[in-house]
Amino acid sequence: MIGTGILKGMAVTARNFVGSYFDKERLITVQYPEERNPLPENYRNFPFLVYDGDDSQAGLRCVACKICEKECPPQCIYIVKSDDKKPDYMGKPQFYPKVFDIDISVCMSCQICVEVCPFEAIKMDKDFELSTRERFDALLMRKDDLAKSNDYYRRISPTDAAEVDRKLTAAAEAAAKKKAAAAPAATKPATPTPPASNEPAPTRASS
Ligand code: SF4
Ligand code: SF4
Repeated sequence: MIGTGILKGMAVTARNFVGSYFDKERLITVQYPEERNPLPENYRNFPFLVYDGDDSQAGLRCVACKICEKECPPQCIYIVKSDDKKPDYMGKPQFYPKVFDIDISVCMSCQICVEVCPFEAIKMDKDFELSTRERFDALLMRKDDLAKSNDYYRRISPTDAAEVDRKLTAAAEAAAKKKAAAAPAATKPATPTPPASNEPAPTRASS
């Protein structure tokens, strides 16, 4: 019958209108921005760079391997690798990104950069309030804008962050064990070789 759909729709509206006085679940509209619906954990927007510790630059996990730059479908990541190395948050000398930009006016939130990163250094953010009055430079996110702490990642994606923490802790423990096992061999004194009779012991050539 003509108009049945309209009547059904109005019945749903009326049910929610009356029901909203008794059941908060039926309040469909929230007074944004004062009120916000919680975002689902799997919601994603644009990528950010994870750092450990307190220093947003020294603690960056990114080692500028450029895999994400190569794999990004719309080619919106731009990285310049450092010439030198500096200690990462675990004290291991690493290259680091001298420049790391993402043009979020081009990014399509596909998450491929996250999936290909071998260092758990780039993750998807949930920040969607990024509108600006300008189309170009204002949407080009620089390294400083992209760096966010692991604590932030734990807050926005607790399940994924816990899994990453577990993997990194296991890897660090395995590396420490390997180092400890190799240490006695390295510190074992070499058996001195006596010089041949009547020959002077070798001396280091002066430079
Ligand atoms: S989410 Fe996709 S489009 Fe955006 S930077 Fe990562 S790989 Fe590129
Ligand atoms: S974010 Fe990951 S994949 Fe991209 S350059 Fe840094 S370490 Fe490599």
